[in-house]
Formats: sequence, structure tokens, C-alpha cells
Amino acid sequence: MHRSRFQAVLLLVVLLTGCDNTVTVYQDRFFALGTLVEISIYGVSPAEAARASDQIEQEFLTMHGDWHAWQPGALSSTNEQLAILKPFRPDPAVLPLLQEATRLSQLSNGLFNPAIGKLIALWGFHDNALPVGTLPDAAAVTALVKQAPGADDVTFTGTQLVSHNPAVSFDLGAFAKGYAIDRAIEQLRELGIRNAIINAGGDLRAIGEHGDRPWRIGIRHPRQNGILASIEISGNASVFTSGDYERFFEVDGKRYHHIIDPRSGYPAEKTVSVTVIHDNAATADAAATALFVAGPDEWVEIARNMNIELVMLIDTDGVFHMSPAMQSRIHLEPGKTAEIRVSEPLS
Ligand code: ADP
Ligand code: MG
Repeated sequence: MHRSRFQAVLLLVVLLTGCDNTVTVYQDRFFALGTLVEISIYGVSPAEAARASDQIEQEFLTMHGDWHAWQPGALSSTNEQLAILKPFRPDPAVLPLLQEATRLSQLSNGLFNPAIGKLIALWGFHDNALPVGTLPDAAAVTALVKQAPGADDVTFTGTQLVSHNPAVSFDLGAFAKGYAIDRAIEQLRELGIRNAIINAGGDLRAIGEHGDRPWRIGIRHPRQNGILASIEISGNASVFTSGDYERFFEVDGKRYHHIIDPRSGYPAEKTVSVTVIHDNAATADAAATALFVAGPDEWVEIARNMNIELVMLIDTDGVFHMSPAMQSRIHLEPGKTAEIRVSEPLS
């Protein structure tokens, strides 16, 4: 997992540092939330940039501890309490996150479902090492799908929570990285920084500009080394990709990856990768996961529900599906695409 993310990150650096050596960029890297986080800052003194970057790193490490899906922390104790099915006050470090995840889950018709932590655990994706290649017990998967845990099963009353379904267990793996990046960007702005990128394993949010030109972002190829496409962004934009190559194992030549269709309990079948661009990183993160699950037949409907306008989805037949807005923004590398299907406008 880390190797592919390293490649994505290094690639981005190459793009950023490419041709222009008249502007200098401050960069810092650290590990948090299971991935390499890279901060690039423009337009302030190196000392200011270093101070801001240190602060962001501390914040990321705190969030890492609070939001971890399986190590002891604020989220795991919330899950323990939810299982009791009685009202309680969760750690304030997780409440706004759970509320926002619930809202996005509802907009996605439950395809982004942060309540399926037990299912993710059954698949063995709750571990730092890749699973060694055993499939979960089919009866256990079916039983959990039948219990249908969903964000709707949890009631929020002020700062209190109560679950009505014993199968609910929150896993914020599809969303916490985006939420964390949004928080970090807010902090950077408070510190007076106007031009920056925070990139977590290839998923990123940019604000401002790269000197006097837009930021140029590479989207990696899901099956080859190198990039598939690039896109220029300026002002404020998040670019998030969910892919079947991030975390997977193979059994009898079949790939089992980490994005689970909550309706079947099995990895979503028809998608290879989805890239979403949206102002807000948390929304882009949740949407990339939801649209991955939605696949080539349902992504348009779910994207509209979630107010997403810029989407590219590659299906398992190699077809590129995209919104008209994405088609007019993206620069596809020559020779890397086969069939392209452009949808109706999303709004
Ligand atoms: P990545 O973390 O590789 O960028 P995603 O954002 O798509 O990719 O998140 C995948 C993670 O989200 C999985 O490892 C798992 O923890 C969790 N997850 C898997 N399927 C779903 C789903 N349908 N809804 C919400 N979370 C999911
Ligand atoms: Mg996601």
C-alpha cells in the first residue's frame, strides 16, 4: 500500500517542481492516518511555513489517535459504547466527524456507509499489514448484511448518541483523511497562508496558486506506473481518488479490494477507480468511495444527490465515464484511454 502511495506523492512533487524555478516551495512530510502526508506552502517565509507545517503535523497526529478505526482511542471507545444501545456522550473529538459522515452517508443512499466497521473487520482490512489472502466466512458476511447497519441507526440528540442496531460500528477510513485535510487547510488559513497543498497519499486539497500559475495535479494510472491524466486547479479544490489498487489481496486469481458494497458485503465489482474534484475534501473523499460502490450504472444518480459535478470513473471493462464538466477540465495522457462515455450534465 505504502509503495503505491509513495509513487503518487513523488509524482506530484515532480509535477510541482517541474519547469519553474523562480518560485520556491516549502515542503514537509510525515506519516499519519496510515499514509504519507505532504504539505507544500508558497508565498510566506520559510520560517513561517515551517512553523505552520509543524502545527499541522501535530494536529494530524492527534487526529490519527482520535479517529483510528481499530486502535484504542476516541472512536473505538465510541464504538464500544454504541454497542450497548444506550444513550451516551462520545468524546467531543469524534462527534462533528460522525455527524458529517452521517449526513454524507444519507446523501449517498448509504453507499458511503461509515457504520460498516464490523464488515471491514471481517474482511481483515482493519490491519496495518495486507490480509494474507483468506476470504471471510460467507455466513458471517451474510449475517452482517442482513443486520444492515447504517448511519440512520444512530440518533444524535445534542451531544448524545444512541444506536438502535447492535451491528453498527463506525469506520471512518473512507472519509477521515478528507476531513483531516479540511481541518488542516482551515488552520493554514488562520495562520495567514493563502497558497498551499496538503496531499495525503495522492488525495489532496489545494488553495491559492503555485506562484503565478495554477497547481498541476497528476492522477495516477490504476494499472501502470505513471500518470493517466492531469488537471490544473487554482483557488480551492480537492482531488480524491478511490481505487481497487490501494489495498487488496488475491485468491484464485480474483482481486478482493478494500471498498465494500454495503448491499452485498463484498468488494464493489464493476469499478477500478473513481476521481472526484470538489471544494471540500471530506465530501470529495466520501463521494469517491460512494461513486466507486455505485459503479458505471448508478454513479450519475449518486453524484447528483451528493452535489458533485466533477467525476471520472474507470470501470472494469476499461471504459472511462465522466461528467461533461470533468471532460472539459481534464488532460488525458495520449494513448492511455480507450472508450470515453460522457454523462448528461450533473446539475
Ligand atoms: P483510500 O482510503 O484508499 O483512499 P477510500 O477513501 O475509498 O480509499 O476508503 C476505503 C476505506 O473505507 C476502507 O479501507 C474501509 O475502511 C472503508 N470502507 C470500505 N467500504 C466502504 C463503504 N462502502 N463506505 C464507507 N467506508 C468504506
Ligand atoms: Mg474515500
